[in-house]
Amino acid sequence: MVFLIKKINKKIINVNINSGDFMKKVLIILLIFMVVGCRSENKEIKNNEPLDKEEEKKELTAQDYENYKVNELGDVPIMMYHGIHNKKNSETNYIGGNIDKDGYQRTSEAFIQDLEFYYSEGYRMVRLTDYVDGNIDVELGKSPIILTFDDGLENNIKVTGLDDSGNIIIDPNSAVGILESFKKKYPDYNVTATFFVNGGLFGQKDYNDKILKWLVENGYDVGNHTYSHVNFSSVDVNETMKEVGSLYEILDNIIKGKYVNIVALPFGSPYSVEHDNMNYILNTNYNGKTFTTKSTLRVGWEAESSPYSTNFNSKFLKRIRAYDNNGLDFDIKMNFDMLSKSKYISDGDIDTVVISNDQQDLLGNTYDKKVIKY
Ligand SMILES: [Zn+2]
Repeated sequence: MVFLIKKINKKIINVNINSGDFMKKVLIILLIFMVVGCRSENKEIKNNEPLDKEEEKKELTAQDYENYKVNELGDVPIMMYHGIHNKKNSETNYIGGNIDKDGYQRTSEAFIQDLEFYYSEGYRMVRLTDYVDGNIDVELGKSPIILTFDDGLENNIKVTGLDDSGNIIIDPNSAVGILESFKKKYPDYNVTATFFVNGGLFGQKDYNDKILKWLVENGYDVGNHTYSHVNFSSVDVNETMKEVGSLYEILDNIIKGKYVNIVALPFGSPYSVEHDNMNYILNTNYNGKTFTTKSTLRVGWEAESSPYSTNFNSKFLKRIRAYDNNGLDFDIKMNFDMLSKSKYISDGDIDTVVISNDQQDLLGNTYDKKVIKY
């Protein structure tokens, strides 16, 4: 359309309006009508068309960063879940959505409430592995959140059978079933999670292989929680490498190259990055193979630092236990109250690290991204 208008404009200029020729005048008037008509039609189409990405992306100013409180050195919550039980909160004998005394297991009602809460607070999910690699792709003004599940419990992704094409049918009340419903409800939530499994995988021997493949093909990740849920404080170096290596070997056999080289430490042990076994968890020789682990996850209590912060240690990451305790002892409420003042807030550009001028001393690894200070 634009091309056509240009052509018509050119024609007008080429017509000699001083000639006094009546037909030429009529032609000019006709052409002007056509141009005006085309232009308004063109405008109408434009208004109905969504702006493409390039047009939408404008240079942000220091004032914009100020307005959105952009803080890419802020904290990032890595939520630690275990089982999601298809129950109402009123059906448990513990606080809120806790299924057990310490709140390691959670009701499905509470899990749904958690997901609604994170979304309404402006959190959007990112993959754990992307966060470790310094790739946080979140819209302007939004904050990253990471979900993790330990122990490969059946209720994480319960398969009820296969459809006619041989695809797994997932129980909508299991954790993944609920996450899939949020994928549909909030397409901008970027729903994802990392599942840390043991040797028994998801405890569904007829479906385990299919489950692993389905997860990695549908935007989820699978990581290492050791073969037998070992306590690394009480085993030697060889046992350490066998526990890590044999689980990686199982994942290699089913989803080679598609799982994440991250270990969620059972019981959070060893409790120090200086522990003798730590080096063998990170660099494992087993069965003639070498496995390198880029991060370990602790059983933590509070949010972790931005990957661009000097406080960030990718080898030993803290998590928030997703449980209720009336806003005390680092439960969800307490943590998100703290995060309201300290959270990471994105500038919407994955290729830049935006920080305020008074935070310069906190700037650590920037992963070769452009740093903008305001
Ligand atoms: Zn565990």
